Amino acid sequence: MELNILVICYLIGSVTFIIGLKMLSHPESARRGNLIAAAGMAISIFGTIFLYEEDGLKLQNYPWIFAALIIGSILGTLAAKRVKMTAMPEMVSLFNGMGGACAALISILEFDHIYSLIKDGRDSDHSILLIIFAGLIIGTISFAGSMVAWAKLNGRIKDFSFQGQHIMNLLIFGVIICLSGYSIYSGDLQIHTLFYVVFALSIIYGLFFVLPIGGADMPVVISLLNSFTGVAAAFGGFLYNNPVMLTGGILVGSAGTILTILMCKAMNRPLSNVLIGSFGGSKSSAASKDQGAYKEISISDSAVVMAYAKKVMIVPGYGLAVAQAQHVCHELEKLLSDKGVEVNYAIHPVAGRMPGHMNVLLAEADVDYSSLLEMEDANDVFPQTDVVLVLGANDVVNPAAKTDPSSPIYGMPVLDVELAKLVIINKRSMNPGYAGIENELFFQPKSSMLFGDAKDVLQKLVSEIKTL
Ligand code: NDP
Repeated sequence: MELNILVICYLIGSVTFIIGLKMLSHPESARRGNLIAAAGMAISIFGTIFLYEEDGLKLQNYPWIFAALIIGSILGTLAAKRVKMTAMPEMVSLFNGMGGACAALISILEFDHIYSLIKDGRDSDHSILLIIFAGLIIGTISFAGSMVAWAKLNGRIKDFSFQGQHIMNLLIFGVIICLSGYSIYSGDLQIHTLFYVVFALSIIYGLFFVLPIGGADMPVVISLLNSFTGVAAAFGGFLYNNPVMLTGGILVGSAGTILTILMCKAMNRPLSNVLIGSFGGSKSSAASKDQGAYKEISISDSAVVMAYAKKVMIVPGYGLAVAQAQHVCHELEKLLSDKGVEVNYAIHPVAGRMPGHMNVLLAEADVDYSSLLEMEDANDVFPQTDVVLVLGANDVVNPAAKTDPSSPIYGMPVLDVELAKLVIINKRSMNPGYAGIENELFFQPKSSMLFGDAKDVLQKLVSEIKTL
């Protein structure tokens, strides 16, 4: 009877994960989706703790289990409440690393269990070793890689690479596969040592895999590692014949893979290019071209043209997130709307440093979701737009992506802001953005630079427009 209830708990868990994931695809339902999936997870966890039994025996160690649950919940809640939006990728990386470590620990524990059976001559079927090794390798690589990603994103360590590193990585990976294959096939007593050699090599591989990747490419790598963790957890589900672990793992694995592919597509870069790290900071021909002079515009002139415009489009970018200017940006938008100006936001899929960065940032400031236009829709509206206000965005509005085949961002879909009547670009200097290239938009006749920190500039614009 209790086991039947447990099966129902797992069914509820699996269904809520699927519903939750679906709801995460829209900002209006995302929060509820997250809560629904979390509730399903809680039902599955408590169902396992209180209802699971094997050979008539229930789980024990309750003090350990609850101590870990309480400590983990407190740390997780505090971390999630305190994290800044710009530090979100590093937190995702840290949490993902913990998932990978859990999957690897499951393999280590279960290996000891199986090994004692092999040692006593009680086990003849080694096929389970395939699942154990797969969980160990993928979980460990995900853990080690995520820790490097976390440390790189918060500035604790720098990019590191040496000549022939990619070949060495391939060699290490080859040795891992050969040793695992031999262990699974032979299933003899030596595999105890081999198992831990594979474990150590997987840690080294995880470190060397992520260390050379450019810091700002980390979100793509984190998403890839996220999919690894999902797959490793799914192997845990196979091992324990646990349907909810299997469903959760497969969903995370496939969602992470799809996200990785979408991010690469939005940047028009193959995954291999991200992993080998040939983007970011590289100087292209576009960087060295003499672009001529740029114009500047004052706060008061910007305020006037926006206040008397019919249509204004705001293009948020990474700089808006750095300046934490989302609230004052919303204030400007409301002020203009009150004056009868139609204000929308043009959202590029990889504006910022993680997928959905701008959507989450603006949602935090209560910006109405219906005013956020996806890139394709925004591009249709630019020709009828009077003023575009670019706030801390650079690569995502760079026309070189369309016109300069030698540019590293050539082929990346971008926002066609230059089609509007006037473009005001706010940033602090003429420094390049993430791709490390100059932006010819800044030198075009319709463009004017409005230098300064985004928050500061927006505050001044708001005060100025209030006086008009
Ligand atoms: P960019 O990095 O191209 O440009 C951001 C600009 O913001 C900089 O030029 C900087 O100029 C300016 N800036 C920085 N701080 C401030 C501030 N306080 N106030 C005003 N401006 C500021 O950002 P985009 O959003 O245009 O493009 C995102 C880039 O990141 C793309 O190349 C994308 O491929 C990449 N990327 C995105 C991922 C994602 O998932 N979203 C993942 C991985 C990479 P200055 O220093 O002069 O102020």
